[in-house]
Amino acid sequence: MLRYKLVVVGGGSGGCSVAAKFTRKLGKGQVAVIEPAEKHYYQPMWTMVGGGMKTVEQSARPMKDVLPAQADWIRERAVAFDPKSNKVTTSSGDEVTYEYLVVAMGIQINWDAIKGLKEALDTPGVCSNYSPKYAPKTFEELKAFREGNAIFTFPNTPIKCPGAPQKILYIADQYLRKTGKRDKATLIYNTSLPVLFGVKKYAESLWKVVEDRGIVVNNRRCLTEVRPDTREAVFVDLDRPEQQFIDKYELLHVTPNMSAPDVLKACPALTDAAGYVDVDKHTLQHNRHPNVFAIGDCSSVPTSKTAAAVAAECGVLGKNLWSVMSGGQCTASYDGYTSCPLVTGYSKCILAEFKFDGVPLETFPIDQGKERWAPFVMKKELMPFLYWQLMLKGYWNGPKVIRKALHLGLSD
Ligand SMILES: Cc1cc2nc3c(=O)[nH]c(=O)nc-3n(C[C@H](O)[C@H](O)[C@H](O)COP(=O)(O)OP(=O)(O)OC[C@H]3O[C@@H](n4cnc5c(N)ncnc54)[C@H](O)[C@@H]3O)c2cc1C
Repeated sequence: MLRYKLVVVGGGSGGCSVAAKFTRKLGKGQVAVIEPAEKHYYQPMWTMVGGGMKTVEQSARPMKDVLPAQADWIRERAVAFDPKSNKVTTSSGDEVTYEYLVVAMGIQINWDAIKGLKEALDTPGVCSNYSPKYAPKTFEELKAFREGNAIFTFPNTPIKCPGAPQKILYIADQYLRKTGKRDKATLIYNTSLPVLFGVKKYAESLWKVVEDRGIVVNNRRCLTEVRPDTREAVFVDLDRPEQQFIDKYELLHVTPNMSAPDVLKACPALTDAAGYVDVDKHTLQHNRHPNVFAIGDCSSVPTSKTAAAVAAECGVLGKNLWSVMSGGQCTASYDGYTSCPLVTGYSKCILAEFKFDGVPLETFPIDQGKERWAPFVMKKELMPFLYWQLMLKGYWNGPKVIRKALHLGLSD
């Protein structure tokens, strides 16, 4: 049986950042990261990969290079949690015990949930930026596009980066204009949501973008089946499920259904009813097991699931977990900060930043609801640097300090 002061499950954005912070504090042999993947991906770059602006290789690093050298890397999957005995079982059957646990397993993609999708992804016309395998195919499909419907979907489940399904829509629009094919294309955004975006301020800006560009938006329309043989996508109206729509596609960009990881759903002692780790939304401490914390997409925190949220959570979790380890209380409080750089093409972006309840919380003292060039450059060039060089090393806790300085201390 392996024993550690701190076990981190998942070596993605959150797990890696937390492990780096605590390895520095606790030293060698005290922190273990359970993570089966050999590669770590900077997933926000997949939007740019789909648009042909970056390669998928640029979004990847070997896991061994991003996990802290002084942490023990257990190259396996966690297959069971036993929070009463402070124990995690790995895929080889080993038991790893901990004094403190941070769950950072991300959200699970359920490629099987839409009939025919898994097979369709390997056929012409169908792509998804939600996988390193298929994000490069998005750009191949854009290049191959001749005429017809280009359809973009948003599923009827929580997802990571809820802006990403429409970023690729706007990039596709711009690409088709650049290459003289736009007038032969009908661009359709079929979203399960009743709104275009969850925050009113940015939704208003985005409605203007879709209207100016002649994009068709169908709200509450959910993809249920892909028929690659006939290049048809089947949708239902979520408010009138008997109402079915069968659309021909030349290009179909699918955002797949997602859920809490199955292994978490199998451990109700750790989770809420939907299977996400049941933590206090401000302290990130588990509601029933004080030695357990969660970060990122697998947590029950009701904010938009993004790497930007993970960064801000990491600062709070770092302080609170360290305080609890030292015999104190959780005093740091997460405000729900999250951000979504809504790329609207090859040079512009609306930088959405908000906190709990969709209240805007913007870093720059300008109207971030407008399409601008500077945030696009930030998204494309600065953020990857921040991610690899600062965030994964546990040094980037979000832009709060910058925001305060730019607002002369008057912002939250
Ligand atoms: C196309 C796309 C665009 C995006 N755009 C943006 C953006 O512009 N801005 C932004 O901020 N965010 C964006 N995101 C979201 C962002 O990437 C995620 O929210 C962020 O990576 C979440 O971090 P995490 O640590 O919770 O999960 P992840 O980074 O996904 O890491 C989870 C880790 O857990 C591991 N794991 C899973 N199961 C197990 C198990 N059983 N045992 C052990 N380990 C396990 C996985 O291998 C993985 O390494 C985007 C995501 C995608 C896909």
